[in-house]
Amino acid sequence: MNHDDLRDWSKRAADWAHGYHATLRDRPVRAPLVPGAIARQLPKSPPEMAEPMDAIFADFERIVPAGMTHWQHPRFFAYFPANAAPASMLAEQLANAMAAQGMLWQTSPAATEIEQVMMDWLRQALGLPSGFTGTIHDSASTATLSAILTMRERAIGWKGLSEGMSGQPRLRLYASAETHSSVDKAARLSGIGQDNLVKIPTDTGHSMKPGALAGAIAADRAAGYLPAGVILCAGGTSIGAFDRIADCIEVARLHDLPVHVDAAWAGSAMICPEFRDLWAGVDGADSIVFNPHKWLGAQFDCAVQFLRDPGPQIRTLGLRPAYLATPSDEEIVNFNEWTVPLGRRFRALKLWFLLRAEGLEGLRTRIRNHVAWAAEAARAIAALPGVEIVTSPSLSLFTFALVAGDDATEALLNRINDDGRIYLTPTRTGGRLAIRVQVGQFDCTAEDVAMIPQVVEELLRQ
Ligand SMILES: *Cc1c(COP(=O)(O)O)cnc(C)c1O
Repeated sequence: MNHDDLRDWSKRAADWAHGYHATLRDRPVRAPLVPGAIARQLPKSPPEMAEPMDAIFADFERIVPAGMTHWQHPRFFAYFPANAAPASMLAEQLANAMAAQGMLWQTSPAATEIEQVMMDWLRQALGLPSGFTGTIHDSASTATLSAILTMRERAIGWKGLSEGMSGQPRLRLYASAETHSSVDKAARLSGIGQDNLVKIPTDTGHSMKPGALAGAIAADRAAGYLPAGVILCAGGTSIGAFDRIADCIEVARLHDLPVHVDAAWAGSAMICPEFRDLWAGVDGADSIVFNPHKWLGAQFDCAVQFLRDPGPQIRTLGLRPAYLATPSDEEIVNFNEWTVPLGRRFRALKLWFLLRAEGLEGLRTRIRNHVAWAAEAARAIAALPGVEIVTSPSLSLFTFALVAGDDATEALLNRINDDGRIYLTPTRTGGRLAIRVQVGQFDCTAEDVAMIPQVVEELLRQ
């Protein structure tokens, strides 16, 4: 295949993509497959001789779409969304055409500078004070790992980088029981250890108890531990829990601990001023992560991390071997020094296209609709006999269960997903199994969301 062929096939791919999108509503949301069904259709060994693109494309059409769970299906209500607004898809195609690598300013000046401007656009969009800068990562997990590595090094005076962790004081991190497993993973990977991630109990509003946080820090100090940082939850994955950010940051400040806020999902909603009460006090954080690839519409992957002062993170993650030296190092930003990988994709382009093609007002309207439609769906589900709301809507996320108990709830969930018209996923909360509903797919309509209670009612009657 050469670049002339690429042009022709790109047009064919664009037509295919258009048809795929137009028929999404007719497809089951979740792939109705048994494990191994796709792998069995592929030869066991790679081809020795080149194959014609016609054959490759025909196999793609025959095998792949039917083997996908369709994240862009308007009735995808599982997990959290991974939205891809058309404009962001187009930007990805252009980035793909240049296949750029933006590790240093000089390896892709436009990628670096557009990233700087997009971080500032997003800062303004979320109502964060000037002074926060930031960078784009692949995922929230990487941003959280970066923040926790920085907490570790700050606590031990940047000795771990050279000396390693053995012989260092025993560090402690604090988070609520509602935080995402990416925080546990970062505690493991950072050498701090999962046992040293203290999960602070939550109150009836699902916030970490600030008094319990203060107590845990004091008890750890007395026991010879070295507290290193606090991770706060702004929109947890299970039920959308929010820590009381201002109160918790006040405790952290009293103990001189840095704070990282995980708003991977809910951050997108903060473009709407009326939701910002949920994370009031966030301007006191040292680090904040949110994923524009979830609710905002930037094609996966795109996680942004705001930093009050990038200095400590650059000191932790930045390395300048001779072969990466660049002239005028003082004036330019080399974003590889802000994150874990060296190589970096040109992710800022899709933010630029997205924000311009939709406008903040367009994006706000979608998010407001999702929140309103989720509330309507929760009301309709609450009215069904034998069904109860377990956690009421946090933004556009709520959970429900059958009064009959976990087994009945699980059986209902399996029937919902085998049916294929909607896709929902489970969680455990308050010791019981619950079915999660989140509304956030970019193209979903009020009718799509109204199908949630309809399907539940229909399947309950059978
Ligand atoms: C999705 C999510 C994450 C993990 O995001 P990745 O980008 O997939 O690593 C972390 N925290 C919360 C609250 C999330 O919703």
